[in-house]
Amino acid sequence: MTGKIDRAALEDLSKNFDGEIMLPDHPAYDEARQVYNKMIDRRPAIIAQCAGTEDVVSAVRFGLDLGLEIAVRSGGHSVAGWGVTDGGLMIDLRPMNAVEVDPEARIAHVAGGATCGDVARACEPYKLVTTGGTASTTGVAGFTLGGGWGYLSRKFGLACDNLLSVELVTSDGGIVVASEEEHPELFWALHGGGGNFGVATNFTFRLHPLPAATMALLIFPPEEGPKVVRRVRDLFEAGAPDELNVEVVYLTAPPEEFVPSHLVNRLSLLVNAFYAGSESEARKALAPLFELGPGGEMIAEMSYADIQSAFDSQAGFRYYGSAELLPALPDEAVERFCDRALDMIVPSASAQTISSWGGAIARQAGDWPMANRDAAWLVYPFGQWTDASDDERGIAWVKALGSDMAPYAADGTYINLITDEGRKRTIASYGGEAKYQRLAAVKARYDPDNIFSLNHNIQPG
Ligand SMILES: Cc1cc2nc3c(=O)[nH]c(=O)nc-3n(C[C@H](O)[C@H](O)[C@H](O)COP(=O)(O)OP(=O)(O)OC[C@H]3O[C@@H](n4cnc5c(N)ncnc54)[C@H](O)[C@@H]3O)c2cc1C
Repeated sequence: MTGKIDRAALEDLSKNFDGEIMLPDHPAYDEARQVYNKMIDRRPAIIAQCAGTEDVVSAVRFGLDLGLEIAVRSGGHSVAGWGVTDGGLMIDLRPMNAVEVDPEARIAHVAGGATCGDVARACEPYKLVTTGGTASTTGVAGFTLGGGWGYLSRKFGLACDNLLSVELVTSDGGIVVASEEEHPELFWALHGGGGNFGVATNFTFRLHPLPAATMALLIFPPEEGPKVVRRVRDLFEAGAPDELNVEVVYLTAPPEEFVPSHLVNRLSLLVNAFYAGSESEARKALAPLFELGPGGEMIAEMSYADIQSAFDSQAGFRYYGSAELLPALPDEAVERFCDRALDMIVPSASAQTISSWGGAIARQAGDWPMANRDAAWLVYPFGQWTDASDDERGIAWVKALGSDMAPYAADGTYINLITDEGRKRTIASYGGEAKYQRLAAVKARYDPDNIFSLNHNIQPG
């Protein structure tokens, strides 16, 4: 035995395993066990870096046989660090990052360990897109299974809305493909139900043509926050086009060319606008915001993949975050949002954001586990800092913003951006008790012993 690892079982696993198996003495083990959130410091008994679906099958069976806790890691971006376990088996899908684009059929086959950037870059030569996250480094798997919101969601829906099929390794080590035709109830559950039902090894996504995309950045001093947020709200309430996504972000302004020197490294307010179209169309849609006279501005047509990676932060931060979905944004909520930004740690890589929701997200409502689609606004504090002594203050700021927004927020929230915030919140985020029970029934069929439990967990019903 090597700790909990039985030598014979290990030899058995190694025989037909194409990827890399790592025990704690492996030279790459310490690098491999890292996830995005540097508050997380867990040591798996074994890491199975899988090269393909058959490796995942072998790894799941190995974990089952030895009774190990199983963590499934793709992009490693979850706040809670659910991609890594202490003392158990970490199934790492990062080597499985192939993306195959069929431009004629307008579909992409995406392996389970790919990042949102892998997909955007593979589609770029064809001027095709599907909804990805606002950072290129987020894993497609965790992102999509939890809903998948990004700059393109108002136009093309959430990532899960663009799913055509998912190949999954289930808790008995079997392989299933879920789509509208096969395992339809499982397919339904994969629209927001997270990693509860198995290890997703391949996704097929619908693609859309996007001939042009524009990024516009407008920077303001922080005291202009309420005026800017209200103007953004009014713009969307008056009926902004689906092509437009706007995030209003309090952050520490970076030393970029468009940022005036007096705001660099200071708390500032950034309007980060994305337009699924040309610069001239974007300028027209954003005219009411340019009229406010920002301290600095830039606007440019860029590829979707370049826009998506524009804010990629360096890894290496301690990370805590949460989210609220708001049906409306009354003046009082705007004031409270802006006041709370003053509690952010500056300078740091933290951000406090209000983003437009709605558009195609709401229109593709259906009866999915990805609920709260009729919200108008997503509010999310994204706390990042380097010093452990800032943990308490940073977490307190995130929680305080949640309390500030609670009177205006929907019951459930968007699970991708939160850690475990309790069973009540999880159930509300899956759309309430009835939908949770339906998910629990799917869980009972595909993972009756809850071996995939490191997630916003659904208890087998
Ligand atoms: C910098 C950053 C930017 C972000 N931007 C956005 C954004 O724009 N929009 C948005 O919606 N969210 C965003 N998020 C949140 C992100 O979508 C979620 O944290 C998501 O769960 C991350 O997926 P992952 O694969 O990267 O993470 P992981 O930590 O690897 O996985 C997250 C969860 O999914 C499970 N999982 C991972 N891979 C698989 C798989 N192959 N099969 C089954 N289950 C699996 C894990 O077990 C875990 O429970 C961001 C997070 C960060 C840190």
